[in-house]
Amino acid sequence: MDPITLAIIALAVIVVAIIIIVIVRTSQFGIEYEALPHIELPEADGESVAQRIGLATQLRTISDVDESKIDPRPFEAFRDLIRTLYPQLEEKLSRELINRHALLFTWRGKDESLDPVCFMAHQDVVPAVEGEEGDWKHPPFAGELVDGYVWGRGVLDCKGSLICILEAVNNLVKEGFQPERTIYLAFGHDEENSGVFGAKQIAKTLKERGVKLSFLLDEGGTITTGQIKGIAGPVAFVGISEKGHLTLKLKAKVQGGHSSMPPATTAIGALSLAIAALDSNPFPQNLEVAQFVISHLGNEVPFATRMALANTWLFGGMARKQLAASPSTNALTRTTAVPTVIRAGDAENVMPGEAEALLNCRIFPGETVQDVYERVRELVEDDVVLVEPVYGDTIMDDHAWNPTAVADIESPQYNRLADLVMGAFPGVKVAPFMMSGATDARYYNDICQNAFRFTPFFLTKEEVDTVHGVDERLSFVNAGKAVGFYQLLIEEVSSLTADQEAEGREGSIEERIDLSKAEMSAIERMKEPLVVKPLDPTKRKALGLVKEPVDPAATAVDVPEAVEWQESEQYIDDDAPLVVKPLKKKPEA
Ligand SMILES: [Zn+2]
Repeated sequence: MDPITLAIIALAVIVVAIIIIVIVRTSQFGIEYEALPHIELPEADGESVAQRIGLATQLRTISDVDESKIDPRPFEAFRDLIRTLYPQLEEKLSRELINRHALLFTWRGKDESLDPVCFMAHQDVVPAVEGEEGDWKHPPFAGELVDGYVWGRGVLDCKGSLICILEAVNNLVKEGFQPERTIYLAFGHDEENSGVFGAKQIAKTLKERGVKLSFLLDEGGTITTGQIKGIAGPVAFVGISEKGHLTLKLKAKVQGGHSSMPPATTAIGALSLAIAALDSNPFPQNLEVAQFVISHLGNEVPFATRMALANTWLFGGMARKQLAASPSTNALTRTTAVPTVIRAGDAENVMPGEAEALLNCRIFPGETVQDVYERVRELVEDDVVLVEPVYGDTIMDDHAWNPTAVADIESPQYNRLADLVMGAFPGVKVAPFMMSGATDARYYNDICQNAFRFTPFFLTKEEVDTVHGVDERLSFVNAGKAVGFYQLLIEEVSSLTADQEAEGREGSIEERIDLSKAEMSAIERMKEPLVVKPLDPTKRKALGLVKEPVDPAATAVDVPEAVEWQESEQYIDDDAPLVVKPLKKKPEA
């Protein structure tokens, strides 16, 4: 054979081999779950559950980063509302107040040698944006029941699940159920402001008491459609980890002056260039988490996407582009850094000497707070622009954290949760998910390996978008189903025997679950203490930015002892009216 024919044959063989490899890898990508028998949830009257959620909505339990600015009255009224609605709980559950408003209920299990389980939610809500209140179809703090929905701030985030959890426990108490394992209900009061005063203190209290949790469920993913481009069917996203968090301040400082004689470099100009540099240099992409999440969606995933993700050695570029094209999947592939606040200047003819922007970063597993800080400095810091912490003098504080540990999806706890979702919501796929946002659950890293973030609401994409927005609402159907779901889940996870638990507990977490390299390295890095490089002192001095160092002990939160929950004096008289107004039920439109 002549060399040309030989070369053509060799080329053809290579092409065929590549095609075979691509097809085989594509066919092996993804997990197809067996359809499970339909699970009938215990029945709950969704409309009456929604009514009670409506009452909770009327209390403006709004938190604040500054604890002294939190109005205690709505939180006191909220406790009284719980007491009024669920008097049976008092018979079986002990109640504690931790750090003023955080609530911890304990339902002692029959076998105290078994690790307890914990169900979480938060009492606080974000305010309805001023000026936007009028855009709501129904006022945000009225809790009206209209068109099969309860409307109001917090019905999805997260008073809805809080009330549904209480409702489920109350039903179980009434039925005479007694759990094998101790059950905690932990409701912090400042999740929307980082959870430092609520969830963090509850977790600390439990840790001090030597508690290790076998299972924890907090808010997080829901069942929804259209979250991942190309996936048509409904997916239950169960959060198993959270990205890290860091906000940095970019500060440009020059000599200010009259705008008629501007210097070559201005504060606003330099800051704008820095932001533009960050925009055009996004953090590097990593496909492993997206591969892991999408692999659980089986045949829901379009062939081309499966092929690209199963063969990143060949189609990596295409997959990266595809995933970067939508915000939700882009966040699954990288650390994101976005300017959220910008401040500079206040007169039309005065050139400000300072301009600053806040850069909010969500940190991908495998990277740390320090990595992100250093990369941002490398990209934008110069003689004019400085990168600084937002609060205090260190980068690593209550407002910054590394990506969390990853929950175990081969554990019996996860299996029971996933099976219940698939059985109770036929046709729904379950995908373990990395949360881009933060929840209170991250504070339980040390005391729980099986922390999941999921709320059993089946929401349209439009409903999901009302969280922190306008027209937040929850359907009666969702409210009723969620109560039944929590009831069964509480029974399932609290009855897990030591033997069943041990089955899923062989080897280290790294051995037991199929972690991607990025997740492994994130776990490794989280074991090391974080060293924060001090800001360059000479540069700081030259720019007049040297501050007195802050003594961390002086700013530490002083945590009062946990106390038995007392009724607030104001409402101690059972005949005294609650501050909540009776619900106005509007006629169906
Ligand atoms: Zn929330």
